[in-house]
Amino acid sequence: MPRAVIALGSNLGDREAFLDFAVSQISALPETQLLRAAQRRETAPVDVPPEFADLSFLNSAVLIETELPPLRLLSELHAIEAQAGRVRTVRNGPRPLDLDIILYEGVTCDTPELTLPHPRAAQRTFVLEPLADLGIDMSHLHQA
Ligand code: ADP
Ligand code: MG
Repeated sequence: MPRAVIALGSNLGDREAFLDFAVSQISALPETQLLRAAQRRETAPVDVPPEFADLSFLNSAVLIETELPPLRLLSELHAIEAQAGRVRTVRNGPRPLDLDIILYEGVTCDTPELTLPHPRAAQRTFVLEPLADLGIDMSHLHQA
């Protein structure tokens, strides 16, 4: 079964509860097993509008095994974000839950809807540190 890494972030409301919700919903996806979850870390916001600069994030990541193809996995993650009450308003605005696919084993793609590996992951400590917990080193991926 292909393995995939999902980054989890929350900077609005009960962040621990939103990450708990995300891990349990991801674990319950069809044809999917949770293999490992990274530690949670508090991180300063990156690239957020200045009025939200004081809302720090709680971040983590999970390693899964899944038979769901990448776009199906992405739409399941968007549904979980929506169930957590996420409404897309301003770009990079506060969100109860952000679920990004960082890596999907054996897949690279580059469309606005889905880019793999995730294009901004390799520069961001809030992604790299949880991935290091999972035993994954992305620092060699230098993407724009
Ligand atoms: P961001 O995660 O960049 O802060 P959003 O969560 O609003 O912002 O995502 C914006 C869009 O990015 C999504 O609608 C999604 O289709 C697209 N996207 C492209 N590649 C990925 C990926 N690897 N993981 C998650 N979303 C992605
Ligand atoms: Mg996202």
